[in-house]
Amino acid sequence: MTALRITAALFVDLGRRTKTSADGGTWVQPPRARYECLLCRTTEGPVKGPIAVQEFVARIRTDHPANCTANHQGAHAA
Ligand SMILES: [Zn+2]
Repeated sequence: MTALRITAALFVDLGRRTKTSADGGTWVQPPRARYECLLCRTTEGPVKGPIAVQEFVARIRTDHPANCTANHQGAHAA
């Protein structure tokens, strides 16, 4: 049986905003996101705001593994 190895968790809170105006409303609670790597036990973020969250989510799953200190299996045998 092959199990998918969970190595990281990405948490995204989409937030809440008023829906009153044509400009998209005002954020009551801005979106937030954070990424927890279970290999090196690092938390990236949290970031806040719609644009920051969008960029964070788009890049973190490739960015963190590239910098992860626990990513090089065998290279850093602890
Ligand atoms: Zn890591």
